[in-house]
Amino acid sequence: MDYQAILNEIAEEIKPYMGRGKVADYIPILAEVDPMQFGMTVTMFDGTQYSVGDAETPFSIQSISKVFTFTLALDAYGYELYRRVGREPSGNPFNSLVQLEYEKGVPRNPFINAGAINVTDALISHYGSPAKASKEILAFIREIADNPAVESDKEVAESEMQHGFRNRALANLMKSFGNLDNDVIEVVHTYFEHCAIVMSTRTLSRAMLYLANHGIDPITAKKFITPQQAKRINAVMLTCGHYDASGDFAFQVGLPGKSGVGGGIVAVIPKKMAICVWSPALNEQGNSLSGTKALELFTTKTGYSIF
Ligand code: GLN
Repeated sequence: MDYQAILNEIAEEIKPYMGRGKVADYIPILAEVDPMQFGMTVTMFDGTQYSVGDAETPFSIQSISKVFTFTLALDAYGYELYRRVGREPSGNPFNSLVQLEYEKGVPRNPFINAGAINVTDALISHYGSPAKASKEILAFIREIADNPAVESDKEVAESEMQHGFRNRALANLMKSFGNLDNDVIEVVHTYFEHCAIVMSTRTLSRAMLYLANHGIDPITAKKFITPQQAKRINAVMLTCGHYDASGDFAFQVGLPGKSGVGGGIVAVIPKKMAICVWSPALNEQGNSLSGTKALELFTTKTGYSIF
């Protein structure tokens, strides 16, 4: 299949969608990003990459980092992790407080904000300190991306620290129910640090390969997680990766995927490839509008989906 030709076609066909949607402005520094950007990369199991558009431009990975922290926490805690965070779709916005209150501080899944904050807390306990947890999360992402240059953008983390009142509220609510071990401010700061990691569609699609291959990097043969756990991470991506638009993403695209408010979306085609698309303007649920469309076009044109 001529993937390059398919990506070129997609870049043309999404043009009418560019300019629709809205960049995330509740993190002030992200409001400054030019919405008219679009990049997409497909990475094959032998490392071959096909790209189109702004595929080298670094962007804030935001909630896509939650896939990597979930991987680390599952590896560290195994099934025990589900005592503190569930694995059901929330059907609610990613930063909703209401459900967390009536479900007694146990977040529905590791991809909504409360769940990811809880997973970060688990990693701080596991690694012994917030600084050590941040270091290990970054080291893991560099390893799966096979790229030692990946960094977290301090300015973005600070911007969120100054304006992240809702995330602090989620952490405080969990703490009040006894479902958060560490200091609230330290936990949210560590969470913001991994959300502020910066990557391009090229590096991020490379980093996702282990999830397309049962937890093993097909290029380096490194085992990052067991096949059973990789299966579960993919299942949670499919059912919860796009918050209250997860059903719609499965319907339109048909792949396990995860979005972030920086405008990135990752998706995997099991046993074949990993994909990353980026375009900063978001739909109502906080997922990249053109990015979702581009992935829909990709699965339609290639005929690849898990269904
Ligand atoms: N850092 C963002 C937040 O906590 C991540 C949200 C997202 O990407 N959906 O609000």
